[in-house]
Amino acid sequence: MSAANPLRNQNLQIQNYMETCVADMLKPVLDGLNACQCDNCVMDILAISLNSLPPKYVVTKKGELYTKISNLQNQFDVDIIAAIAKASVIVSRNPRHDR
Ligand SMILES: [Zn+2]
Repeated sequence: MSAANPLRNQNLQIQNYMETCVADMLKPVLDGLNACQCDNCVMDILAISLNSLPPKYVVTKKGELYTKISNLQNQFDVDIIAAIAKASVIVSRNPRHDR
């Protein structure tokens, strides 16, 4: 099989597990902070959070749904909550809309 571009592999894909962790925790953390949860703010907070966290790439079968890696999850929780909280402050100071 050709390995010219591994991202075009038909059966396997690489995904950033950190994206799943942050996305799962976004709503409860933002609820607690009483932060704006419009699409723009949520996506901005997600992007800023992910930029400040180390990526965790994993290989999965194409179309396969993640099952949570629970021991990894706990290990990351504190860092993720801190990153979301920080990102939320940045976005709320300069939202893409009027307050
Ligand atoms: Zn907003």
